[in-house]
Amino acid sequence: MTSEERRALSLVVQKYGGSSLADADGIKRVAQRIVATRKAGHSVVVVVSAMGDTTDELHDLALDVSPVPPGRELDMLLTAGERISMALVAMAIANLGFEARSFTGSQAGVITDSTHGKARIIDVTPGRISGALADGAIPIVAGFQGVSAGSKDITTLGRGGSDTTAVALAAALAAQTCEIYTDVDGVFTADPRIVPSARKIPVISYDEMLEMAACGAKVLHLRCVEYARHYDIPIHVRSSFSSREGTWVTGSKAHGTNGPGEHDEQPREDAMDQPIITGVAHDRDEATITVTGIPDKVGIAAKIFREIAEAGINIDMIVQSTSRATGQADISFTLPRQDGPAAMTRLREVQGDIGFESLVFDESIGKISLIGAGMRSHPGVSADFFGALADNGVNIRMISTSEIRISAVVDAADLDEAVSAAHRAFGLDDGRGEAVVYAGTGR
Ligand code: ASP
Ligand code: MG
Repeated sequence: MTSEERRALSLVVQKYGGSSLADADGIKRVAQRIVATRKAGHSVVVVVSAMGDTTDELHDLALDVSPVPPGRELDMLLTAGERISMALVAMAIANLGFEARSFTGSQAGVITDSTHGKARIIDVTPGRISGALADGAIPIVAGFQGVSAGSKDITTLGRGGSDTTAVALAAALAAQTCEIYTDVDGVFTADPRIVPSARKIPVISYDEMLEMAACGAKVLHLRCVEYARHYDIPIHVRSSFSSREGTWVTGSKAHGTNGPGEHDEQPREDAMDQPIITGVAHDRDEATITVTGIPDKVGIAAKIFREIAEAGINIDMIVQSTSRATGQADISFTLPRQDGPAAMTRLREVQGDIGFESLVFDESIGKISLIGAGMRSHPGVSADFFGALADNGVNIRMISTSEIRISAVVDAADLDEAVSAAHRAFGLDDGRGEAVVYAGTGR
């Protein structure tokens, strides 16, 4: 093994979230943790989020001066949050006698497309990071940001995007693991802020974690999990406030994610002991649009969804119902709440052309999702899930499924109750109340 390879083997990327960096004391505590990792013999690259609720505050400020801030300028503003924390963390490390160098996303070689607000990483060229490591310095990288290959403008990766910065750097630097430090001890069977009896999940597969993240679990950014799966980077989600072992997100374990006959290197629990359901996720950030009185003609649905797609909006669930009496159809779909106004405007413009009757926008919904690879081979999961919701008086408005997930749209007011009920019904309650929320407003 060359010394290059040996260095790569002991390289760890650590990402610290905003609640771990909320104030000067938090920054000093994080600096100590980083230095301890270094003293334990690892090379370490650090990715930071903005302090506390800085990103939200900057966003609110932008809206105070302009109801629809230009994407380029909003990204320029929001990326300032991470620049503040990277410099402060570097200073705090210097104060402990180690050299640290801060880098913006652009300096760290995070190259993206030019979609402001939700840019995708298309390349990572971390020459300056490797250079700093070679000099024995600890690189501190601003998360959540990059630079567009085309326009050379500064971009952001979407809310929670620092996780993706960390995994992308871990992949580009061939790091052994990526540690995501947050304000809870790992990934839980439900959000501990809603279900205090939620249990920590010791190991979860990339596929299940992808479903959890896509269904609103904010603990990891969706694209970070996609990235980790693609490059097979194990992620260790843990708290920066404790030294407890967190949750490992990997491809090699949990719920028979290996194909038949594939050899499992790591020890695993007997598959029979695995719970059928891994966790319950919820999402409060969606809304529905219902298009009513649609003429029953070929190609109309395509027209409606073409408009939405051209506005750059991702939709999730779709339900169509046709009335026998009138021959007309209603179509409802869910979309991110923030995209609601844009979608409504777009559809109103084509109302005459498509010939539908009306549009209804509803923000008072929530989505609950049950996730578990075990449901592939267990009948009756939907029946038990819907039964649990019914027993608690929760009305279901829409349903969608994948091989390892069942989601339902319910009234926003019923969401917390629905999550608790499903969590109980599938025996996920711990009873020991081990879930600790160390910090953060959950905002
Ligand atoms: N600071 C950004 C946000 O609040 C990115 C991140 O925390 O990952 O969304
Ligand atoms: Mg986050």
